[in-house]
Amino acid sequence: METQHTQTYLVTGGAGFVGSHLCELLLTEGHQVLAIDNLSTGRLENIAALLKHPRFHFARASITDEIVMDRMAAQSDVIIHLAAAVGVRLVIEQPVHTLETNIMGTEAVLKSALRYRCRVLLASTSEVYGKGSKIPFSEADDVLLGPTAIARWGYAASKMVDEFLGLAYHHEYGLDVTPFRLFNTVGPRQSSRYGMVIPKFVQQALRSEPITVHGDGQQTRCFCDVGDVIRAIYGLAQVPDTTGQVFNIGGDEEISILELANRVKDLTDSASEIRLIPYTDVFAVGGFEDMQRRVPSIERIKAHIGWQPQRDLNAILQGVIDYEVAALNP
Ligand code: UDP
Repeated sequence: METQHTQTYLVTGGAGFVGSHLCELLLTEGHQVLAIDNLSTGRLENIAALLKHPRFHFARASITDEIVMDRMAAQSDVIIHLAAAVGVRLVIEQPVHTLETNIMGTEAVLKSALRYRCRVLLASTSEVYGKGSKIPFSEADDVLLGPTAIARWGYAASKMVDEFLGLAYHHEYGLDVTPFRLFNTVGPRQSSRYGMVIPKFVQQALRSEPITVHGDGQQTRCFCDVGDVIRAIYGLAQVPDTTGQVFNIGGDEEISILELANRVKDLTDSASEIRLIPYTDVFAVGGFEDMQRRVPSIERIKAHIGWQPQRDLNAILQGVIDYEVAALNP
């Protein structure tokens, strides 16, 4: 088989959960990797092992810092733009930061990419499907967002603007841009601080605290291992015909949140009580709406790069449990 030539990748949000795993993969594949992160939610520990790598360079800076972004884009073939405000809790508690980071940040990345004609892989989210009820969610489906009074929809709208902007740069300027929508992604290094359910349930179970299920727990999600997700992103970056199209990336095993709580409790052998928390008690400000079901269609990415998730939910959960146990007993 012909060996893939090495390239220089710029990963924005490179010290984040997905970003740090992606940087590792790109280094393993022999590429030069530049990472930029302002460490607002990313953590230096996530990339501690990479900092000494001769093909890895890290800049602690915001993507809106034009001088740093320009210098890094000038050296890059491909930009994988992951830097964003994410996590339901963060989005609700810091709506201004969320909108400004996501919209102005992406604009800054696209402008730099255009100057040097870098290829761009642009992270979006399954939140853009909003309250749509057609299951599974396909990339060409209509979207249905709730009212502007609810901060969560501002996050969804900001990522839609990112997609629109990216596709506009593609259509108007011929820039190679591929937006991809991440569904619930899990794995080691994911923080529970911003609302992510699996690290939160695992930590609660390990500490014998109540496992807090929102609502009646009948809402469902499909979880995908971060190792599978980064393979998908890398795969999209490797083939030219994905440009100008949007791709879902997500797991296809649907589970209710109540069942997830029970699964975590069993796997950790925990004595925790499972407690149902009414939505009205979850977030004090910003209003809140949850999605009942969220299931991706992964037909498009399968057809283009032959990707499908390989790790099932039990293996994913075991990986997070091992990581959280190690974090509790350093
Ligand atoms: N959730 C929960 N308890 C928690 C945190 C989250 O029941 O302590 C629920 C949340 O309401 C949602 C699901 O778990 O229905 C997934 O939440 P997460 O914030 O991980 O991601 P989302 O899919 O909402 O973006």
